[in-house]
Amino acid sequence: MPGEPLERTAGEHEEARQRFVLEDTGFREVPEKYRRFYRYWQGPGDELGLNEVLCPVCKVVVRSTRELRPGDRLYCMACMTRMRIRRGADGRLEADCEY
Ligand SMILES: [Zn+2]
Repeated sequence: MPGEPLERTAGEHEEARQRFVLEDTGFREVPEKYRRFYRYWQGPGDELGLNEVLCPVCKVVVRSTRELRPGDRLYCMACMTRMRIRRGADGRLEADCEY
C-alpha cells in the first residue's frame, strides 16, 4: 500500500498477520492521504494495538494495516525516522531508531 509506514517485514508467518482497517483520527502533521497511518499518543494509559508502535523520536503512534512483529522496519513520516521493531521488556512492541 503506498505511503504505508511498514516498509519491510521480518518475513515470518506473513499469512497469519492480522489485518487492520485504519481511519483518519485527525493527525495533521503529514499529508492528508497518509494521516490514517498516524495518530497522537494519549500518554501512558494509551493502549497500543497489534498494528501500532510508538515512534521513539517524535512520540506519535505509527500504524500499519498489518499486525507488527519484531524485526519489522517502519518509516515515520512525521519525523522522517526509520525504525525497527523489537519486543520490549514488558512484552510489548517497541521501536529503535535505525540510521
Ligand atoms: Zn516519528
